[in-house]
Amino acid sequence: MPREIIQLQCQECKNRNYSNTKNKKTTTERLELKKFCPFCRKHRPHRETK
Ligand SMILES: [Zn+2]
Repeated sequence: MPREIIQLQCQECKNRNYSNTKNKKTTTERLELKKFCPFCRKHRPHRETK
């Protein structure tokens, strides 16, 4: 099963704080997760980026 490594980018400061994997066949939409950003020092929505 091909699993793609993706980066999760803070939507406020645009820093890439997290990496994750996703299955391209089962997840077609962009991932968006609420994660703690150490640069904003707050929880922010993080979106998938390459
Ligand atoms: Zn941030």
